[in-house]
Amino acid sequence: MRAVRKSHKLADVCYDIRGPVLERAKQLEDEGHRVTKLNIGNLAPFGFEAPEEIVVDVIHNLRAASGYSDSKGLFSARKAIMHYTQQKNIAGVEIEDIYVGNGVSELIVMSMQALLNNGDEVLVPAPDYPLWTAAVSLAGGTPVHYICDEQADWIPDIADIKAKITPNTRAIVIINPNNPTGALYPDAFLRDVLEVARQHQLIVFADEIYDKMLYDRQSHTSIASLADDVLCVTMNGLSKNYRACGYRAGWMIVSGEKRHARDYIEGLDMLASMRLCANVPGQWGIQTALGGYQSISELVAPDGRLTRQRDLAHELITQIPGVSCVKPKATLYLFPKLDPKMYPIEDDQQFILELLEAEKVLLVQGTGFNWPTPDHFRLVFLPHEDDLRDAIGRIARFLDQYRKR
Ligand code: PLP
Repeated sequence: MRAVRKSHKLADVCYDIRGPVLERAKQLEDEGHRVTKLNIGNLAPFGFEAPEEIVVDVIHNLRAASGYSDSKGLFSARKAIMHYTQQKNIAGVEIEDIYVGNGVSELIVMSMQALLNNGDEVLVPAPDYPLWTAAVSLAGGTPVHYICDEQADWIPDIADIKAKITPNTRAIVIINPNNPTGALYPDAFLRDVLEVARQHQLIVFADEIYDKMLYDRQSHTSIASLADDVLCVTMNGLSKNYRACGYRAGWMIVSGEKRHARDYIEGLDMLASMRLCANVPGQWGIQTALGGYQSISELVAPDGRLTRQRDLAHELITQIPGVSCVKPKATLYLFPKLDPKMYPIEDDQQFILELLEAEKVLLVQGTGFNWPTPDHFRLVFLPHEDDLRDAIGRIARFLDQYRKR
């Protein structure tokens, strides 16, 4: 038989968060090693379980969940999402503007598949949550990365965004709060993005999945709330704010200048119908989550568990010689920089692999987030403080050896 090859459509598609280094980590575990996984934002294994009321309601509705739902989602879930958009001041959202998906992941892919023709360009942040770049490529588009400025608390450089617009640019992706940098964008920047979108007729895709995971009593503005004359597609879900990523429940809201987007919306409707519907048991958690007690607030309060872990991880990592890190204002990630003079890394995947082999700590290399130079990594600060101390101690020991090479 001829070798079976993957499709050419995958040629430029890359998703390194679950890449070859993770495979090696699994092998090490099979060999009996304990690997500390600071690689993915999966909350439940670290004792951040979904709130009990969500679990109870999903169980309660399990019998009612054996059939397909409407392709765009359960009415009760979409109604609750509609109320949430009102709280976030996103104007004019009707039930038909809301799509429930198997996590935001499915909706990212769907929203790009419905939009892009070969060669269309989409502005995506660097660093980014790499599914955005992968989804643009998979849909035949070209991801064009704009730079987030580390010197400016990782707020993207609006001049760079403007400079990268061409006649083929269709859309701009904003990840706010940002994975992997933990940045939270000020309204002034969001208004600048909207002005650019207005001038060049771009769609704004806003990934706001961490919008409640905010430290230091900050608040989040949905970019869609700042303009009703720009087409905005806002994504959010239960995975992070409600610690229920296994339920695969996310949503997407189309708002703003919808009149000229009828054809695109028809495309979205068609793709939503083709996958029949999102996981129905998970959808039953949405109304309870959005209307219930917001226990995430306790975790991110000044003395909350996530805040303490963020503070400790940031303090310990920046004590290592040659390591600097903008303190995250949101999310559950640090994205530290390694001074290239002290750590002359050429291949950061290899660097992360060597750390794994030596110290059994698993991180993700910065280039895995489409960061252009091999001088960053992402660390998830989900483990308890003692485990964080231990893991970052091991990273420090590895870096100490690395400097002496
Ligand atoms: N968007 C961002 C910025 C993320 O960090 C993640 C997951 O880590 C996702 C989307 C995917 O979320 P979901 O579990 O809803 O598919």
